[in-house]
Amino acid sequence: MHVAVVGAGAVGVTAATELAVAGADVTLFDRGKPGNGSSGRAAGIVYDAYAEDVDGELAAQSVERFRRLSGTGDFAFVDCPYVFLAREGDEKVAEAIVGSVDRMRHHGRDVEVLSPEELDARFGDHLVVDDVAVAAVANDAGRADPASYVTTMADRARAAGVEFRTGRAVGLHTDPPGVVVGAAIERFDAVLVAAGAHTKQLFAEAGVSLALKPYRVQALTSRTAYEGPMCFDASADVYFRPHPTGLLGGDGTEPVEADPDEWNREADEWFVDELTTELRTRADHAVDVERAWAGLCTATPDGDPLLGEVAEDVYVAAGWQGHGFMRAPATAEAIAGQIRGETGIEPFEPTRFDGDEEFAVFQGMTVDERDD
Ligand SMILES: Cc1cc2nc3c(=O)[nH]c(=O)nc-3n(C[C@H](O)[C@H](O)[C@H](O)COP(=O)(O)OP(=O)(O)OC[C@H]3O[C@@H](n4cnc5c(N)ncnc54)[C@H](O)[C@@H]3O)c2cc1C
Repeated sequence: MHVAVVGAGAVGVTAATELAVAGADVTLFDRGKPGNGSSGRAAGIVYDAYAEDVDGELAAQSVERFRRLSGTGDFAFVDCPYVFLAREGDEKVAEAIVGSVDRMRHHGRDVEVLSPEELDARFGDHLVVDDVAVAAVANDAGRADPASYVTTMADRARAAGVEFRTGRAVGLHTDPPGVVVGAAIERFDAVLVAAGAHTKQLFAEAGVSLALKPYRVQALTSRTAYEGPMCFDASADVYFRPHPTGLLGGDGTEPVEADPDEWNREADEWFVDELTTELRTRADHAVDVERAWAGLCTATPDGDPLLGEVAEDVYVAAGWQGHGFMRAPATAEAIAGQIRGETGIEPFEPTRFDGDEEFAVFQGMTVDERDD
């Protein structure tokens, strides 16, 4: 079986490796270098704290795979608890946290709501906790450098026989399945598009409409030391974690559709100012900006990914809503399995949408307020 994978981000390199290890003849295309897209700009927060069973299982499998890979090449996975909290006066989010933790625990996740005393005892040295209404901690969590994951997996892919064709944007052909290189159509038995923010555009140029929107988010690193847990303050909409330079923090979501070719790669001043204020409030952290940047994520109408077959032997893997790195090992394994004939993940089937749906972009890091 000859398979083309378009996009050498965390998802594409992993899927290409899985397919090649299973015996397929795989060509991996990227317009730049592996990790060129969002995977090279991500924060590297990893956890299994999802309220939905499918997401939780995929995330838990991914945590395990990150742990196993740790120590290979430059890749390191560092265990680190993930605290998510709501402030006093923010009852709606506080209730959503309690409800989502119930569902996470029901699905077997190691997550607990902390009493004020427990929160103070475990994390009071690093977080300001006086104004916290509800806090929970996911214990099966950690952090990693997404760029080094891609590099390490790219080495694995090469060792498994994947052919890399990088440095040139390609197009998609759906019938028959193929990749458009310059003016030529190269035919494959199957094509997987894992092209991140460009996925919608690639399909649109091939005449297929996907319910997918790229949107811009932001992050920064600070030189000031921080050795506490990873934390998402859901009332302030900011997250932060320890980082080799000191701290990495972010969100700064622009909740509008972005043009994947025309967007500002630098962080906005308002984002740096707001995060600086929030980090002082939440972690008594004085930001000393080392680097501040932006990147693109992809949204879908229901917040779940588009993972599966779109047209005969043409597959998509995108729409991670800011959570694509942490689930990449398992989602890539799932789509590689589907290409080889296994059953796909039903709630993520891309054909659940027509592609012309109107929908608003909501930020990636959020508390899941949906019901089971
Ligand atoms: C600031 C920021 C922080 C984030 N933090 C986290 C986090 O903490 N945890 C988490 O799980 N997720 C996080 N994310 C989201 C995460 O980065 C993405 O969900 C994930 O990297 C998506 O991986 P991917 O392989 O699908 O796409 P990408 O990494 O974007 O890869 C797509 C690839 O396709 C290539 N490509 C595009 N068009 C073409 C074409 N026409 N021809 C050939 N190649 C093409 C691109 O060059 C790119 O290399 C964050 C994102 C940002 C921007």
